[in-house]
Amino acid sequence: MLLEVNNVRKVYTTRLSTQSTEALKNVNFAVDNNEYVAIMGESGSGKTTLLNILATFDKATSGSVLLKGQDLSKLKDKDLADFRRDNLGFVFQDFNLLDNFSVKDNILLPLVLANKNYKDMEKRLEKVIKPLGIEKLINKYPYEISGGQKQRIAIARAIITKPSLLLADEPTGALDSTSSEMILNLFRQVNEDGQTVLVVTHSLRAASYAKRVLFIKDGIVFHEIYR
Ligand code: ADP
Ligand code: MG
Repeated sequence: MLLEVNNVRKVYTTRLSTQSTEALKNVNFAVDNNEYVAIMGESGSGKTTLLNILATFDKATSGSVLLKGQDLSKLKDKDLADFRRDNLGFVFQDFNLLDNFSVKDNILLPLVLANKNYKDMEKRLEKVIKPLGIEKLINKYPYEISGGQKQRIAIARAIITKPSLLLADEPTGALDSTSSEMILNLFRQVNEDGQTVLVVTHSLRAASYAKRVLFIKDGIVFHEIYR
C-alpha cells in the first residue's frame, strides 16, 4: 500500500482558542501503487486540509498517515524535507511560484534541490514543457503570465521529479476547458507511466479521469466509486 490514512482528525483553533473548526472528523482510506484517485467534495468539506496533511505541510490533530509504510508524524523536520522531495509532487491551489525566479528556474527548482546535474535537468525540462504547451514561456517571470499558464508551470514543477505520489488541489480550477483537458490527459499519462495520482476537486469532469472517486463531506469520506 502506498498511502494509508487512518482515523485522521484535524481541528483548527484560533490563537486565543475561543473558536475551533473540526475540518476533518475521521478520515480513513488507502491508496495502492499506481492508482488514480479523485477526492470530490463541496467547498469547505475539508479537501485542502486533507491534502496539506498528506503533503506533510500540516499535521493531523490525531490519527496517522503512512506513506510507503512511513508514519509521517514520526519524521524529523530534516528527514521530512528529504522524504517529501524524494517521494511527493504537489500542485497547490495558489500555485506557489517564486516571483524572482524565471519560469524555467521555478520548474527546475526541485531538481536543483535534489542536486541533479544540469544535463539531466535540461532533458527532463524538455519532456515536461512540451505536453504542457509552455515552451514559449520558459524565460518569462511569473508576474508576466496568466493564471492558467501559472497553473501549467506549477504542474510542470510537480511532475519533473517523477514523484511516486502526485498530489493536486483543484488542478483545473483556474483553467479554461481546453487547458483543463490538456492537464487531465497529462495526469492520465503520468499515471499510465506508473506514478500514483491523487487529485482533490469539485469538478466532475476532473474526477471522471480517475479510476476511483472518494467523496468527502463535513470532514468524512462517506462514499466511493470504482470504475
Ligand atoms: P475545501 O478545500 O474542501 O474547500 P478546506 O479544507 O479549505 O475545505 O476547509 C475545511 C474547513 O476548515 C472550512 O470550514 C474552513 O473554513 C476551515 N479551515 C481551513 N483552513 C483553516 C485554517 N487555517 N484555520 C481555520 N480554519 C480553517
Ligand atoms: Mg480547497
